[in-house]
Amino acid sequence: MTLNSHTIPHAYTPDIAGGFETLLHDDDKAREYLLGHLWPTGAPFCPRCGHRKVYTLSGDRLRCASCKYTFQPFSCRWINNGALSPSEWLRLVTLFVEEKSVHQMKQELSLSYNTVYKALTAIRFAILAHAIDARQLISPATGLDSYLKGNRLTGGPREMRMDTIPVYGILRKDKMVFIDLVLGLQAETLFHFHMNFHLKLIRTGNLVYSDRYKEYDALMFCGNDSLPYNVIRRYDEQPYIDEVQDDFWKYAQSRVKRFRGISCQRFPLYMKELEFRFNNRDKALPEILAAYLCALVPSME
Ligand SMILES: [Zn+2]
Repeated sequence: MTLNSHTIPHAYTPDIAGGFETLLHDDDKAREYLLGHLWPTGAPFCPRCGHRKVYTLSGDRLRCASCKYTFQPFSCRWINNGALSPSEWLRLVTLFVEEKSVHQMKQELSLSYNTVYKALTAIRFAILAHAIDARQLISPATGLDSYLKGNRLTGGPREMRMDTIPVYGILRKDKMVFIDLVLGLQAETLFHFHMNFHLKLIRTGNLVYSDRYKEYDALMFCGNDSLPYNVIRRYDEQPYIDEVQDDFWKYAQSRVKRFRGISCQRFPLYMKELEFRFNNRDKALPEILAAYLCALVPSME
């Protein structure tokens, strides 16, 4: 065991010589780029306690001098969920940004469907974890907490019913959109508002959205087969959000229609992805996503 005297080549710089493209088929370069995101100053630190004195062990392993935790560079990070090489990760990120289908990604990367699907889940969790309301979202209120076991995405969905399926609200502010978890409302409440207070509801598959409600342009939830969708009445007039057709709804509508196969448990991942894409529509998404994937999985305890 030797004291690690700076094995990491250099600090992360946002300028990539030759551009992001050059990383996509070069594992060494891709890895170096990702390491720069892990340790911006170039010096590794313990992902568990943050201590900066770290020993290098054989292979790829490191050990914290303080808490004795043995780790690999990508331990405890979102990117540690998935069996992809560094350049495969960056290629997947690029295909994700281009909104390719899982099938197309699987073919372009020569990876299995499950490998791609799991890695995409890690990307979506990484996006959601960077939202301002992440702590509220990775919680029993949405059910997303059951996917995380410690810092690994090895869990699965928890069963949801009408009285536990959460409701999300679409809020516009200047050029931004916020998809909020609306505390205290569940699918059941919206059915109640619909039947007793004439809140307009529109159903498309398992997705239900409402007319304007308080500060929200619409409320929405993704249900499952246990819901009484047949109580939803048809209207001649459109709800507010369809009537107004603002730039977010124009952007979201065609994408939301493709949500057909999404479960109520995974729904917030896709809504926060839409929020992220819309709010960062003028930015270089692959680089933002690489940074997000390299971030530590927050401790939710
Ligand atoms: Zn430590």
